[in-house]
Amino acid sequence: MTIFGIDLGTTNSATARLKNGKPEILINKNGGRTTPSVFQLTENGEIIVGQEAKDTFPSLITQTVTEVKRLMGTDEIITVSGETYRPEEISAHILKYLKSCAEEILGEPVTEAVITAPAYFSDSQRKATKKAGEIAGLKVEKIINEPTAAAIAFGMDHMDTNQNILVYDLGGGTFDVSVVELFDGIVEVKASAGNNHLGGMDFDNAIVDWIERKFEQENGYSVFAEADDVEQLKRKALLKESAEKMKKILSSQMSTRMTTPFPGIHNNAPISIDYKLTRKEFENLIRDMAASTLKEIDKALSDAGLSVNEIHEILLVGGSTRIPLIQELVENKFNKKPRKDVNPDEAIAMGAAIQGGIKSGEIDPKTGLMVIDVCPYTLGTEVVRYVGGQLVPGYFEPIIPRNSVIPVSETKIYTTVYDHQDSVNVYVYQGESPRADENILLSDGIILDKIPQRPAGEEKIAVTFTYDINGILQVEAKVLSTGKIEKRPICTQIGVMSDSEVSAAKEKIEQAWNKSELYEEVKNIIYRAEKMMNDVSPSDKIKIEALVSKLKSELAANNTHGVKRAEEELTDLLIELV
Ligand code: AMP
Repeated sequence: MTIFGIDLGTTNSATARLKNGKPEILINKNGGRTTPSVFQLTENGEIIVGQEAKDTFPSLITQTVTEVKRLMGTDEIITVSGETYRPEEISAHILKYLKSCAEEILGEPVTEAVITAPAYFSDSQRKATKKAGEIAGLKVEKIINEPTAAAIAFGMDHMDTNQNILVYDLGGGTFDVSVVELFDGIVEVKASAGNNHLGGMDFDNAIVDWIERKFEQENGYSVFAEADDVEQLKRKALLKESAEKMKKILSSQMSTRMTTPFPGIHNNAPISIDYKLTRKEFENLIRDMAASTLKEIDKALSDAGLSVNEIHEILLVGGSTRIPLIQELVENKFNKKPRKDVNPDEAIAMGAAIQGGIKSGEIDPKTGLMVIDVCPYTLGTEVVRYVGGQLVPGYFEPIIPRNSVIPVSETKIYTTVYDHQDSVNVYVYQGESPRADENILLSDGIILDKIPQRPAGEEKIAVTFTYDINGILQVEAKVLSTGKIEKRPICTQIGVMSDSEVSAAKEKIEQAWNKSELYEEVKNIIYRAEKMMNDVSPSDKIKIEALVSKLKSELAANNTHGVKRAEEELTDLLIELV
């Protein structure tokens, strides 16, 4: 059974599979090699994913969702066409679309996939990604890190070389950097660093902010003046669309003009914006963000124990690496040109497909590639410490240090700190600060009780963290004297759905797709009927209206049989009236 590779990106997604041992990108229903990660639910219940949804976003603002990857792992609720969704559910719609495209092209069911996630994605963001796959009806064989996937794709074509490569992955919403050693067909990630809130969208926003500031300075009022909430969102979407276009043009030209001169109306006159932006000005807008990626490179290099001179090749992946300033900064840092033969939009999905092949056995690990990855951040717990003779809480104690090879399991032994202490609460944090509250709280924990009540320091508790190959963590706490164990995956996290919520979401999404497909089947006949109403007698018009309304209410009720019946009746009537 083929295990597909899916790059579920912030702005674009892609699907690949292994064919005769080589990865190939699968085109979507519109012939695109990548698909914009944009979801639309129209008022009729029709689901539109991809380019068409992206193109109509500014005019269908309340019916469209973009950039949902940024919300993964949060408990944010997204309202679209009056329906409420969690981020995993929107991502599931995108995955379901990719799945249906692959099924249409290959004529076979697509049920298993390796999905990629930014290396720097947190535990809850990874879990949310996995759950999105499950909601879409996919068995998620593995979550792999995006830069690792790119290194795998590169490694496959360079099996016989031994070299250190640096993968610089700057996409629409996330930035990752990984230092990878290729050695005898083994792809070994030495260290990863990054920022899961930095990408091309931030550059678009920097242009939008610049336009807003300039407009207000010149006109004395805001570009959002006289706009209600929806209108403000619409103007913002138009400005963002325009900003992204300008940004892309500036990758090949030295200056450009704004492409959406009239985002709204003010004092009954169109708001007119016609600004020129030069590449230099754009570079100044994004310079700090771009420079911040160099710090992450230093962190990854230092964790890998390598210097700049020991990197043999640099791979640029992610659409934002097309920006000349980014290429220049990376090139200057290494004094070396990054490779040009890696397709920044496709490498990640291809690497995921190869990983799928390794998992399914299509690629023999003895003769083919092997992958070794790391956990990019430190995982630990909160402890109290004696400071100046006083017990002070709130310290972060690392248990799995960042860049440990995965899977990894580490145990640390703690003692009780109070006389007669009979319970402990194991809080789980991710981060690098010595203060627990400056790190990300993954779970407020595991309560281990029934500890024998003895003087402080006499009871020992073993805390074990196990981080699996998908980057998912399990925590166990054990009283050594009694053997009492508390063990559970970190599943009671904010932003992570329970199994029953996943089942309910799966059902909800299947129904939504069913409804959308029903609408798709009958939309032409509705269109024809509505057009015909203008050309028939008033009594026939009433007959058509009644049947169209019946068909629409059956659609709203998602009643397949009712829709078919109403469609037949309407078709018969139209034939009779022609
Ligand atoms: P990805 O998630 O890897 O598909 O990257 C998408 C991001 O790359 C988006 O923010 C795009 O605006 C950006 N991008 C794509 N092409 C270009 C280009 N030619 N110049 C600058 N940014 C680009």
